[in-house]
Amino acid sequence: MKKILILGGGFGGVYCAKRLQKMRLNSFDIELISDNNYFVFQPLLPEVASGTISASDAVTPIRQMLNNIKFRNAEVNLIDIKKKRVGILQGFRKRQHFIQYDELIIALGQESNLNIVPGLKNNAFTMRNLNDAYNLRNHVIRCLELADVTLDLSLKKRLLSFVVVGGGFSGVETIGELREMIDRLIKYYRNINKNEIKFHLIEYASSLLPELEKEIGLYTLKILKKQNIKIFLNTKLREVSSMRAYINKNKSIESNTIISTIGSTASKLLKSTQLPLKYGKLITNEYCQVIDSENIWALGDCALVPNKVAKSDKDTNLVYAPPTAQFAVQQAKVLSKNVVLKTLKRKLKSFKYTSRGSLASLGSKKGVGKIFYFRVKGLLAWIIWKGFYLSFIPSFPTRVRVFFNWLLEFFVPRNAVLTNPLNNKPFEKKNYKRGDIVFEEGMIADGFYIVQRGEFSNSYRKTKSGKTFKKKYKKGDHFGSRVILEGGRRTGTIKALKDSEVLKIDKQSFKILAENLPVMKKYFSEYLPKNFSALKLKE
Ligand SMILES: Cc1cc2nc3c(=O)[nH]c(=O)nc-3n(C[C@H](O)[C@H](O)[C@H](O)COP(=O)(O)OP(=O)(O)OC[C@H]3O[C@@H](n4cnc5c(N)ncnc54)[C@H](O)[C@@H]3O)c2cc1C
Repeated sequence: MKKILILGGGFGGVYCAKRLQKMRLNSFDIELISDNNYFVFQPLLPEVASGTISASDAVTPIRQMLNNIKFRNAEVNLIDIKKKRVGILQGFRKRQHFIQYDELIIALGQESNLNIVPGLKNNAFTMRNLNDAYNLRNHVIRCLELADVTLDLSLKKRLLSFVVVGGGFSGVETIGELREMIDRLIKYYRNINKNEIKFHLIEYASSLLPELEKEIGLYTLKILKKQNIKIFLNTKLREVSSMRAYINKNKSIESNTIISTIGSTASKLLKSTQLPLKYGKLITNEYCQVIDSENIWALGDCALVPNKVAKSDKDTNLVYAPPTAQFAVQQAKVLSKNVVLKTLKRKLKSFKYTSRGSLASLGSKKGVGKIFYFRVKGLLAWIIWKGFYLSFIPSFPTRVRVFFNWLLEFFVPRNAVLTNPLNNKPFEKKNYKRGDIVFEEGMIADGFYIVQRGEFSNSYRKTKSGKTFKKKYKKGDHFGSRVILEGGRRTGTIKALKDSEVLKIDKQSFKILAENLPVMKKYFSEYLPKNFSALKLKE
């Protein structure tokens, strides 16, 4: 029996499997492997981030969608083309296993590439998977909670400033949803004035939704501006720190929430294969077959599939299908047929598809888009958007859950429950620009810092003599250990002297390591008396 192996449980993989399932092929053993056991309807992620839909209601268990096809929840870590096998890590201990294939279908999507802007990787949120949306929702609610109680006005300003980078579909939908969520929640935060909340959208192109017509971009601009969202067009994001987004030469936007919807690349796994890549995607022919490899197929965001319908492109005379769910689903139809046609030695079908249209929700019951040749906007576009996505969700139970989530919106307030604890990241890298304060005297300890790049100064004023002591930290040095290990509040203020990067270990994780790893225990038992008793601290 021939083995068809499908990698990836997104639109491409799941729709391919569904198509093959429908064909009832008895001569094939078909298996789908994905690192999550659920299918995410990515267009709903901005709504998960804004709490319109709860995270578990926006996903569908893959096993329930594919009752006649094997499913394996595992991470693919190797594609061995020569031996026609795939390496996977599965089970509790993530043991290495190998699975042979006759036909391999790759639908692994793309990864966010945050290396395109300095500091973006360390300091920005992304909107690609369920975790991203869930974390963003919690972070935004946490910002509101902190802003409601802080007495530090500059911190409050940063906590109430939200920046989205990228004015395409996901950027526009994310900022629209975020604004609506905060708008609905703000009345419960008595110490926050609506005028203190700022939204910013940064786009490199000269219009929003650059994939669509100019008119649609202009309408989107008008609606978002009306919602008090500050739009920066023709603007390049130059750098990001943990406190600001740097744009044109001397301009920066203070913010603790920078959300990136830009930059995509192939996963490390695909880069490690010998398969041909262009623009971070596997190059296929018009049949969705990866070029020069007859038994390897690719579709969806990870594939560069020529679209025979569209007119020619400058350098290659080909037009490639855009990375959208709509196109991935259509490719799944053609690809699944072609895999069978190939084994029957029949002529393969070319991928030809004209988009039926595109719609975006702008929040506040407004939408925009184009259906066939007709432009739609406002409430009508928003209703069509809702109806279209509801019908597009590939599972009836998920459709019902999403529908009731939407319905509830009209009757009950938005849920503002924090569902993950404060500081749940044990390790994170952070960037600071020259002059930025990492923490100040009097604050409680939040973490332990190791300097990766740059330089910091530490000024201690709480000494018995009242004198100020200064200390400098360079690459490889660390700060923040004493208060975590000995208690009390920060006695010094740490300031970046240059553009710098740190690795921050959160308080609890650091304490566990320093108290249990003998080498660290010994090191700090000598380091603290040596460095701090000489300063004669008041506390
Ligand atoms: C916020 C947002 C909004 C969007 N809105 C729209 C919209 O309105 N309309 C539209 O048409 N498109 C929209 N898109 C784009 C659309 O969602 C994608 O084009 C589509 O999801 C691509 O499907 P895919 O199967 O190629 O990749 P994905 O959906 O990314 O699926 C890839 C799958 O592979 C799995 N995987 C990855 N690596 C491994 C590994 N090593 N081992 C095992 N499994 C792995 C992943 O977990 C995932 O299940 C949006 C995207 C985003 C992020």
